[in-house]
Amino acid sequence: MSRSARSIAAAVNGGATAVEEVAAALDRARADDTGAVVRVDADSAIDEARTVDARVAAGETLPLAGVPVLIKDNICCRERTTTACSRILEGFVSPYDATAVERLRTAGAVIIGATNMDEFAMGSSCETSCYGPTRNPAAPDRVAGGSSGGSAAAVAAGIAPLALGSDTGGSIRQPAAFCGTCGLKPTYGRVSRYGLIAFGSSLDQIGPLSRDPADAALCLAAIAGVDPRDSSSVPHALDFTAAADEDAAAGLRGLRIGVFPSHREGVEPAIAARLAAACAALGDAGAEIVEIDLPHERYAVACYYVIATGEAASNLSRYDGVHYGPRSESAATLDELYSRTRDERFGTEVKRRILTGTYVLSAGYFDAYYLQAQRVRNLLCRDYATAFTRCDVILGPTTPAPAFRLGEKLDDPLQMYLSDVFTIGANLAGIPALSLPWGTDADDLPIGLHLQAPQLAEDRLLRAAKGLSALAS
Ligand code: GLN
Repeated sequence: MSRSARSIAAAVNGGATAVEEVAAALDRARADDTGAVVRVDADSAIDEARTVDARVAAGETLPLAGVPVLIKDNICCRERTTTACSRILEGFVSPYDATAVERLRTAGAVIIGATNMDEFAMGSSCETSCYGPTRNPAAPDRVAGGSSGGSAAAVAAGIAPLALGSDTGGSIRQPAAFCGTCGLKPTYGRVSRYGLIAFGSSLDQIGPLSRDPADAALCLAAIAGVDPRDSSSVPHALDFTAAADEDAAAGLRGLRIGVFPSHREGVEPAIAARLAAACAALGDAGAEIVEIDLPHERYAVACYYVIATGEAASNLSRYDGVHYGPRSESAATLDELYSRTRDERFGTEVKRRILTGTYVLSAGYFDAYYLQAQRVRNLLCRDYATAFTRCDVILGPTTPAPAFRLGEKLDDPLQMYLSDVFTIGANLAGIPALSLPWGTDADDLPIGLHLQAPQLAEDRLLRAAKGLSALAS
């Protein structure tokens, strides 16, 4: 079991070797039996660890010195296969590093491999991967959640203390909740999307999965900040790691925590009970619980599946058998080459999204669906703005139920989509949100609590998360 990223970095900066840390993590990655890891970078990781040791020996102090990190397979790693777990990108080797990956290396982290995910990050269970599903380390007959299921399972299983995920509609936070890890989706634009294989460009955000909020803060500090290669990226103006490390619970005093009534409907009793316990503990610690309302939140899932599919249909038009990956062997004409490659190599869920997205963007339906969804998105953003005049952070459950069984929702896409009901609002509004492990149900399945904060208020979000996490222990 890996130690925290903080303690590894402290040890390596203090003279322990990155090579040893990384070799141990590589052994754990090779022994993975959950299907969390889809690529192990054995040789390059040891080389990178040697470089870190040399930098430390030369006098540098590195925030992530020698910390082994796994990268979701839709985030480009130079000279490594990066496939978004799709057959259409089989064998694709990225010519460059994503900005987030490059920044991790600069901070002294060592990339040890890639993690499993739903194909093109479309899913909530990590079952649509071309490599097969990821199992939940807490219950091997259950899903790890998705789409960053491999990253969540790898951290939960202790292979590495940190993994990067991507979150378009909950894909970091939902698997974090299912596996019992911490998962942070930063503000839209906080982390550069350069090198992230695009799904829904107005929603996508890269973020860390970690054992606890302090490690998430450490990772975010390394990867955040403006990037000339992503025009939607914003300047890095916060010290994420400063927030209340010493006496975390004291950071809760006076904090106004918003809760809203619809979060109690349709939520499994064990999760509702954990949420109630959290509110009581927060009250005892000096936080103020206030009731808020997000009247348009009930439209979030519908709104998301119009906007995200529209953007996905557009983004995925680049996979044509010519620019990236393999091509169909049976095509006689150029048109056939395009259509057969796509037909043979995209999975069912991806095809469903492309068809839906093409429909909502088509001339006769654009106003009725895509434009209307953008209007609803605007109303939801206003709901959040109003809510945040009355509270500092919003607290609720991350998911309505704990991890479901493998295969249980594969034939019912609507049920699958509904497992993101609480996480999607943060993507539509572009605000930061975090899932924090907060105990288990009677079957020992992990339960996650969801914290949301206003745009660019990651410091406040992490302060609340560290405080809440201190109350759990
Ligand atoms: N489960 C959602 C979907 O399938 C969210 C995916 C994501 O955040 N990448 O679209």
